[in-house]
Amino acid sequence: MIEKVATLVRELPPSGIRRFFDLVAETPGVISLGVGEPDFVTPWAGREACIWGLEKGKTHYTSNHGLLELREAISRDVEANLGVSYDPRREIMVTVGVSEALDIALRALLNPGEEVIIPEPSYVSYQPCTLLAGGRPVPVATRWEDGFRLTPAALEQALTPSTKAVLLCYPNNPTGTTLSRQDLEGIAEIARARDLIVIADEIYHHLTYGRQHFSIAALPGMKERTILLNGFSKAYAMTGWRLGYACGHPDLINAMVKIHQYTMLCAPITAQLAALEVLKSCRGEMEAMVREYDRRRRLVVAGLREAGLECHEPEGAFYVFPSIRSTGLTSEQFATELLREQKVAVVPGSAFGAAGEGCIRISYAYSLAQLQEALKRIRMFVQSRMAG
Ligand code: PLP
Repeated sequence: MIEKVATLVRELPPSGIRRFFDLVAETPGVISLGVGEPDFVTPWAGREACIWGLEKGKTHYTSNHGLLELREAISRDVEANLGVSYDPRREIMVTVGVSEALDIALRALLNPGEEVIIPEPSYVSYQPCTLLAGGRPVPVATRWEDGFRLTPAALEQALTPSTKAVLLCYPNNPTGTTLSRQDLEGIAEIARARDLIVIADEIYHHLTYGRQHFSIAALPGMKERTILLNGFSKAYAMTGWRLGYACGHPDLINAMVKIHQYTMLCAPITAQLAALEVLKSCRGEMEAMVREYDRRRRLVVAGLREAGLECHEPEGAFYVFPSIRSTGLTSEQFATELLREQKVAVVPGSAFGAAGEGCIRISYAYSLAQLQEALKRIRMFVQSRMAG
């Protein structure tokens, strides 16, 4: 039946992460530092709001845009956190996770063959979603020496007359790097001069350490050319609820809603009710989770350095992206041999594009006890390779 599958889909490269997790699933007793998912449970008030909603019979479709009350709460939250004001009626839509928001943003923007600049290493969905939307992903390598920041010079070099958009992710999955106001000013200047749209995936924006997140949408002239993507999965430990949102120019949001109304109709009402409640009353719990990630982050960075792996200090998200070059192994070899010998799962940097080679991604969304044990095993593994 494979010949019945659309060529575009048949030719889509398999996810490097998925392939690796198939291997993990076959290995018993593994400590996995592989998954980018909070180990916390959604704050109780959010779960309770969902249960209450069901008790009261709130089981119907919502507006295609999402519950107005939720959009109003999102608008207040975004303004308080990012200093950008969005009209909840025209400039915000609720989506099935940032995943859907990303998909429909790309489909709403791209004519066949139009290009999207994707700084690499990058989140694994960006390139496939661009291809599925009929566009052409243009990976731009970011470098270890620049702390994996996209430089204006690298961006400029990748532009062609077909460039439509730049897809930014900060704080970044997989590197943990975030972009400062100054970094973003250089990118924004090019976006304005070359009339580009910026898709800003800021799903990790609450998870920053020792610095305040700054959004590119807050720069002069950037709100109207930025589609800001955000969601509840990471900050509020709500991955399974599948809820996100997009903010942007009414024309762009309208175009996205046009697709969404035919494909999703609306995001699940259960998740919308929970999200509304966490925005109202769970800020303290969210901040407590962020403090815990920060504690783990410091432990992991120190442990990796002690093990002999060079490591940038991650500024956000819950990932560390250390270099494994000192071991002489490729990232795939490192991850496979570490799994086989020490039963610790990490993700090879190459799963995030060629620019990720030479590094591995470690998620620290795991308990301190798991992290401590995993670090001990990583140290033994690295030492065995250095000695060899
Ligand atoms: N964007 C980034 C950068 C991610 O890391 C993830 C999940 O790992 C997503 C989007 C997907 O988020 P959601 O659960 O809201 O679909």
